[in-house]
Amino acid sequence: MHRQLKDISIIIPCLNEAACIETLYKELSQVLASYSYPYELLFVDDGSTDNTLEVLSIITQADNRVHWISLSRNFGHQKALKAGIDAAKGQIVITMDADMQHPPTVIPRMLELWQEGYDIINTVRMENHKCSPFKKLTSQWFYRLMNAWSEVHIVKGGADFRLLDDKVIRVLRECREESLFLRGMTAWVGFRQIQIPYEANVRYAGETKYSLKKMFSFALCGITSFSVRPLRWAVGLAGFFALLSVAEILYAAYIACFTEQAVSGWASLAILISALGATILLMLGIIGEYLGKLFMQCKQRPEYIIKEKYMKE
Ligand code: UDP
Ligand code: MG
Repeated sequence: MHRQLKDISIIIPCLNEAACIETLYKELSQVLASYSYPYELLFVDDGSTDNTLEVLSIITQADNRVHWISLSRNFGHQKALKAGIDAAKGQIVITMDADMQHPPTVIPRMLELWQEGYDIINTVRMENHKCSPFKKLTSQWFYRLMNAWSEVHIVKGGADFRLLDDKVIRVLRECREESLFLRGMTAWVGFRQIQIPYEANVRYAGETKYSLKKMFSFALCGITSFSVRPLRWAVGLAGFFALLSVAEILYAAYIACFTEQAVSGWASLAILISALGATILLMLGIIGEYLGKLFMQCKQRPEYIIKEKYMKE
């Protein structure tokens, strides 16, 4: 199978990336110059407080293939990507970060694979010295937890740097999930997928927008969006405590019937109460997490709000 290339949209979410945009724009333009097909660079300003929007406006004046959407506030990386996906005009969509960690030089390989018939081309970050040990460790844990507890399989080191075919884009546009987790969604939709490795660079300028707290809630969102497995832990934990209570009953009966001692053990009672209390609270927390998601989803608010946009027809 060999497909003819079509219009390409490159979606780049930006939160305070004024220092990176110009360089990324130049590199992308260079890489895409060799294709005769029309393309658009669609920047999504996710409520930046620096001069990201001014930098974008200057670029759009000089190059009408550059478009932007500006969200009314910070909606988060995933929502910014969704806003870009919804607005993209191309039949081939590539999503990537603004900070040059996703090298534009990988794009020609992605397009080649698309021509060979793949509908989703994912990228996997190769382990290298440029990643901080902290990032490596947190990312390792993230994927381990995700894959142990959720029902979709996500490749370790996967990034939101991928090519999506029109078929996939149409499905994603229909998904109006409040807590969107694109890495899981793209694994879930199916179609012909492939992974390619890439060597991540260090961030070109600025600092990471993913704090430890954000990463934790990202992981939680990923797990709870694709699985109800944590809810079943209650059954397992109930079994454990039931066995423990049987053992306690047998022990107490033995002491009472076969020894002269009184059944002692307020310490074990205290331990048992706190262990049980903690378990109940944990399960309540987990149920609460799902209930909260349901609550947010049922309000049916718009996924993001566009404040302003610049898109040529
Ligand atoms: N980003 C965004 N909104 C956010 C957080 C991040 O649009 O709330 C963008 C950010 O500008 C960048 C990409 O998402 O283009 C990935 O963020 P970052 O590079 O900070 O994450 P890291 O690579 O450190 O995981
Ligand atoms: Mg980055």
